[in-house]
Amino acid sequence: MGITRRNAIRILGAGSLGVLYGGFSHPRGGNRHIITLSFDDGFEKSSIKTAEIYEKYGLSSCINVIANAHRRGSDLPDEYHRWPVGDFTLWNELKRRGHEIMPHGYRHANLAELPLEEAKVLVNKCIDVFNEELADFRAEESVFNLPYNASTPELEEWLGTKFRAIRTRGDAVNPLPFEGLFRLGCTSYGPESIDDHLLETIDHFLAGPSGWLVYNTHGLDDKGWGPLSSGLLDELLDRLGGMDGVEVLPVIPALDS
Ligand SMILES: [Zn+2]
Repeated sequence: MGITRRNAIRILGAGSLGVLYGGFSHPRGGNRHIITLSFDDGFEKSSIKTAEIYEKYGLSSCINVIANAHRRGSDLPDEYHRWPVGDFTLWNELKRRGHEIMPHGYRHANLAELPLEEAKVLVNKCIDVFNEELADFRAEESVFNLPYNASTPELEEWLGTKFRAIRTRGDAVNPLPFEGLFRLGCTSYGPESIDDHLLETIDHFLAGPSGWLVYNTHGLDDKGWGPLSSGLLDELLDRLGGMDGVEVLPVIPALDS
């Protein structure tokens, strides 16, 4: 299993982050396929289970959480948010274990439907909560995962002054990471189970040229919009981990790779 010198240095440099990012070697000259499953909404049980399944394979998961969700009470953005969410005690613990914990809005508003100034206020409130609650958070080193993958060119331009990257609507197959890559497209599916769609999307992607697939997942089993079976996630990571030229990475380690 090739963990490159660069990866090793990065892992050492990450201090308390103990889990490998999943730095599989990739054949020089061969195809390189990066896969990011980008889990939104921060359901408590799903997030814990997702992290455990990734850890089984020495991988870091990518979990995007809503800043005020643990305080909002019954004021839900929509019916697909009706399950208990984690709080920043859990997010800090998962981050310590090497998982990527990133912002997914302040209250899950559709920012593309708001006046730009209101959208900016909500993003700034989201950043404030993350600064206060998540250890070692720095927006300029983070990816902002837009609620509903909804953004406007003006908002995206402004987000560029705040964040290292954004995940929003667009082609789910992104180029391989390069310096300055900021806007990541993704695909998503729902509200029913994503299992078949996810497998088809990955098979299609792996049969194609090099690239970086970002698939926006949500909860596990019966939770959230477009749930994914935990058993399928386990099998998938097992299968992908054994494939040459395939890397399963969260966003920031992918951008650094
Ligand atoms: Zn969401």
